[in-house]
Amino acid sequence: MNVLLITSYVRTGVRIGMIQVTDLVTLRLCPYRFYLEKIQKKKVPTTQEMYLGTVYHKIAEETVRRESQIIAELKPGCRSRQVFDLLYMEYCRVIRNVILRRKLKLTSLNIDCESLLQELREFYKEAALQKALSVKKALEKKEEGIIVGDVEYYIEDTDLGLLGRVDRIEIHGDVLLPVEIKTVEKKRPAFSEVLQLAGYALLLERERCTAVKRGIIEYPSTRILVDIPDNLKEYIMKLRDHALQILGGEVPEKVRTDKCDRCHFFETCWQR
Ligand code: SF4
Repeated sequence: MNVLLITSYVRTGVRIGMIQVTDLVTLRLCPYRFYLEKIQKKKVPTTQEMYLGTVYHKIAEETVRRESQIIAELKPGCRSRQVFDLLYMEYCRVIRNVILRRKLKLTSLNIDCESLLQELREFYKEAALQKALSVKKALEKKEEGIIVGDVEYYIEDTDLGLLGRVDRIEIHGDVLLPVEIKTVEKKRPAFSEVLQLAGYALLLERERCTAVKRGIIEYPSTRILVDIPDNLKEYIMKLRDHALQILGGEVPEKVRTDKCDRCHFFETCWQR
């Protein structure tokens, strides 16, 4: 790690800490936004859309965690209907708990909890059906299937000064794949999503001493396998260096782009 940069990082009085992979994604989108959030401590106001994203994400994480336990206990002779019932019952329980725990916040953002419950139950009914069919197929073929390793896996590398939280780690045969769960449907991954996976791949391969050359981006109704070339991991390190420069006192140039029109800091940047 660059000692000079770290020293200046300490001198500015900014809290000494690790840089999150997701912060590097922000930095790549707009260095000035990274500066506003990390140095000026500007907070993005929570919108309905953002909070719903958090709720969907939490439900996705918890259902995956529970589903892998349920599937591990299934017997080869069980019927699809039984698998569906077990999964759907568990999905509904998770949905209810996640929403109840956030009811106050949801209500304060004018989100109708009852309608949200119904929508999510419908969505997860279809998900349970599809899952039950694929699980049944895997059991019949006596396939080993995919092993779900850790869920919500916290990982840090003090040498790199980077940390992240991987939504899920899957093991396909002897290949390790980080999985990033997205709550908004897309046909193909955005570069920023692949970049985030590259950050996790870099951290994982250093921690597990194994090459991580691919990852999965999971949208509500599809999973996309993406290649993670080495140059993307190198790009992560360049972004890390740039982040350290900003944390060390450099003020990035504020540049007006198309992204500004959709940015929560538009007024801060351009209407003062
Ligand atoms: S408004 Fe534009 S310049 Fe300002 S933080 Fe957002 S993207 Fe960056």
